[in-house]
Formats: sequence, structure tokens, C-alpha cells
Amino acid sequence: MIELVLATGNPHKVEELRAIFASLPDANWLRVIGLKDLPGHEKFHEPKETGTTFEQNASIKAVSYAAQTGRLCLADDSGLEIDALNKRPGVISSHYCTHGEETGLTREVRDQANNNRVLFELQGVPIMGRGARFVCVIALAEPHLPGEARLLARVRGEFEGRIGFPAHETDVPSLVVPRGSNGFGYDPLFLAGPEFVRTGAELSASEKNTVSHRANAARLLVPRLRALFTDGASLSGSGM
Ligand code: IMP
Repeated sequence: MIELVLATGNPHKVEELRAIFASLPDANWLRVIGLKDLPGHEKFHEPKETGTTFEQNASIKAVSYAAQTGRLCLADDSGLEIDALNKRPGVISSHYCTHGEETGLTREVRDQANNNRVLFELQGVPIMGRGARFVCVIALAEPHLPGEARLLARVRGEFEGRIGFPAHETDVPSLVVPRGSNGFGYDPLFLAGPEFVRTGAELSASEKNTVSHRANAARLLVPRLRALFTDGASLSGSGM
């Protein structure tokens, strides 16, 4: 059994990754714990996510927490890319309404304002131009010298969809958003591919866990972990 610390204070993320691993046929040798499961976790500090890509931010977090905890750490960075908006909101997905600035708004208020901004910016864009994807990059780092760590692997999972229309912009009921009460963030706007009928917020948690960007990243991660920890493959051969 290999124990991996998911570098997040959010217990839902730990549960979600556990559920995804549990649904995979070849991941039962991996155990995921959260930062809060480690003694002295109050002293860990959150690094600044200064990257301009999901890859950079996931790596910053994984390396920082592996150095702080002395444990193998996974970290993820995720968000929404919209083709018509030049891949925005991207790495500022969670604070898009405030142009990436943290302003102390609650998640519910931010989610609503982020969604309104996206729908406003897509005004007049026809359905075929509203392609979008959720992206999740997961990075793995290991402690190296005391207080230092290095990146071991990084994978990117994607979940393709389209952003629907507010009711006053379309007569097609299946394209009207926001819809659904599951999920979070941009889910109520996101018509999930390949059908583009239900929104992310209309999928059950278990359905989303089989098709989501996080599930796709986890699926790619497992063979990389197997190669690193059980096949004795060298890091230079890990495709990084
Ligand atoms: P985080 O990396 O989980 O903090 O996600 C960053 C932001 O991307 C979230 O605040 C959401 O706005 C958006 N996001 C990431 N994953 C999802 C998802 O599965 N559904 C909806 N929004 C998401």
C-alpha cells in the first residue's frame, strides 16, 4: 500500500479522490489521506498559486507540501477553459468575477457571480462556438533533501462540454441554463459532452466521478504511480 497525501484542506476533495480510486480496477493499492490527517497540520502554510497554467499551480502546491510534510504529496489545480473566451477563466476560474482577486466573498456568491460573468461574455456566441472543458491537473511530488521536494509526475484530465444560454437568448429548452442542483462552480452552465443535454449539475456524483476531468486525471495517474512505485522505472523514464 502506498499512502499519498492530497494537499488540500478540503475534506470533500479527499473523499472525491478516494471514490474515484475506488471505482478504478487497479487502484486499490493507493491510500489517500488529507493534510488534516497529519499531526501538526495547523503549521503548514499554503503556497501562493503564482502560475499562469494549471500545470504550474498544481506543481507549486505538490512540491511545497511535500517539502513541508516530508510525505509523498498530490496536488490538483482545476478550472474551466472556454474556447470563445481564449481559454478564460482558466487558472482564475474560482475568482473570475473579481478578475482573479481574492475578495473574501463566500463560495456561493462567487460561483453565482462567476457564472453571470461567463454568460454575459458569451452573449451572441452561437452554440457551436460555446465549446468548453473542465481541466484538472494532478501533480505528485516527493520529499528530497530536508525541507525540499521534487516533482515526480504530472497528468492532465479534461471533460468536454458546452456552455448553455440564459433563457432570454434561446428557444431551445435543452440549451437553457443554469440547471441542476448537484455539483458546484460552473456545473449548472456546463452541458456535459458527448450528449450536451444534461448539465454537470444534473449528473449524480457517481456519474460525474466516471466522466469528470478529475476522474480522467486520476485514471491517467494510476499507471504513472504504478510505474514509479512498483515497476522500479527511473524518473527520467516517467515521461515528465
Ligand atoms: P479548485 O481547483 O477545485 O479550487 O477549482 C477551481 C475552480 O474551477 C472552482 O472554484 C470552480 O469555479 C471551477 N471548477 C473546477 N472543477 C469544477 C467542476 O467540477 N465543476 C464546476 N466548476 C469547477
